[in-house]
Amino acid sequence: MELDIHERDIAPELCQECAACCRVRATVKDTDSRFRVFLRTTLREVMIAPAAELGQADCCDERHDITLDHGFCKHLESSTVEDRARHSCGLYGRAEMPSLCCQYNCVSWAKHEGAYHLENKLLVTAQQALNRMRLRDARLRDEVNMPKGRRAYEHRCCQRRRGSR
Ligand code: SF4
Ligand code: SF4
Repeated sequence: MELDIHERDIAPELCQECAACCRVRATVKDTDSRFRVFLRTTLREVMIAPAAELGQADCCDERHDITLDHGFCKHLESSTVEDRARHSCGLYGRAEMPSLCCQYNCVSWAKHEGAYHLENKLLVTAQQALNRMRLRDARLRDEVNMPKGRRAYEHRCCQRRRGSR
């Protein structure tokens, strides 16, 4: 798979298909083993990467960054429509929706961080969602013989402004 997703692709229709950035992760820089063991022992329902081997208190003795993975945001609402997952934000349109969610663009962010590459799992998930949409679009265009260049899904109204987070 190649990455060709562009900043302009980030729109509600795509984000309703993707929702990768609604998985809440945070990096903690330069941790030592003592602190990591503390976190592994005390945190509830949070995965820590890299993980410790089974039966080990920690992954290693070195200092390094770790990622805390809290799973998907508690406000994410997911359903299945026409055999595919559709996601929406329970805070959409409300003042409580974090401004970071309203303004985020995964492609801009990846380029800014020098992370526009296939190691970036979030971007790969977004690209896969875009590819699925393109495929559906092409099939639909074939079915209705739609003029090339027009998006088959462009008329749909969006319920979720995830595209601009
Ligand atoms: S901003 Fe990017 S990662 Fe987040 S939901 Fe939209 S396409 Fe997916
Ligand atoms: S508040 Fe909404 S957009 Fe932000 S992470 Fe949660 S579900 Fe996603």
